Amino acid sequence: MTSAESATMLGSKQGKFLSRIDDAGKTHRIPVGIVEGARPGGQITIFGGQHGTEYDGIEAVQKLYRTIDPAEVSGRIVIALATHEESFLNWEQFAPTYPSIMEMMMELAQGSDLIINCHGGEFSEGMHPYVICRLLGDETLDQSARKMAQAFGLPYVSWSQYRGEPPESSVRPAWWLWPKKSMADRLRIPEITPEVGERGSRDDQGLMYNGIINVLKTFGYLSGEPQTFEPLRAIGDRYWLTADEDGVFFPSITVGQDVEEGEVVGVVRDYFGELLQTVTAPAAGKVMNMNWGMPVKKGAFLLWLGVIEKAA
Ligand SMILES: [Zn+2]
Repeated sequence: MTSAESATMLGSKQGKFLSRIDDAGKTHRIPVGIVEGARPGGQITIFGGQHGTEYDGIEAVQKLYRTIDPAEVSGRIVIALATHEESFLNWEQFAPTYPSIMEMMMELAQGSDLIINCHGGEFSEGMHPYVICRLLGDETLDQSARKMAQAFGLPYVSWSQYRGEPPESSVRPAWWLWPKKSMADRLRIPEITPEVGERGSRDDQGLMYNGIINVLKTFGYLSGEPQTFEPLRAIGDRYWLTADEDGVFFPSITVGQDVEEGEVVGVVRDYFGELLQTVTAPAAGKVMNMNWGMPVKKGAFLLWLGVIEKAA
């Protein structure tokens, strides 16, 4: 046996930086881990940290790269270990994805059969775990996307078919989701976005890590029997609540809580306690995502409620 043959049998791991210099001369880089499996197979690309304070995804992908044994892997696993490095290093929330970063993300995803783009709540966000599944209108591709979403093991799903401007009303239909165009759209590759974690949590329950592992097993990238889960429940209409005025937000609910129509979910006051806004639920729903930050500006996001479809 040659050494090249034995290396193939064992597989390999390689960490490196991908980098781009933008028009302004600034360098952007992504630390990338590439796992070459011992056996042949397809390719999956996994992104952590497109938003730099969403730690669950970053924890999970770095743990994955650190601990995975290439001997157990078929095909290639490409892992972006801190996709938006600048926002990660600066603890910057809601950082835009610069064109140079998007270019590198596309490069990493190109040629893959599947994409997992890990997101969650940033430092000032509460978030109930759910998965966004991007549908492309192609039966074969969508079947894989749905299978990935189901295999991730989170209870709720947003089936994203967004192709247009967001509606003006505060009721956002189930199909409405950012971004206008995802990597899935551009590359025609099935993609899911698990939304796990909030307020600086670090995948404490392992939902993100275990979800990734289960997708890898389900699609044969990793040896081992995958777990099966209850069928996903879809998030239908979403009610987007915002602040009427600048002030301080005092929520009276928590993430994951089910609220009734008309229920008070919080208030906005000025510094001296003067009531500026009583925030009520326009419909019954589950608090999926909320602003945990105290200061709010007029028109700013407070929380959104999801109407969860009944179990089948
Ligand atoms: Zn995010």
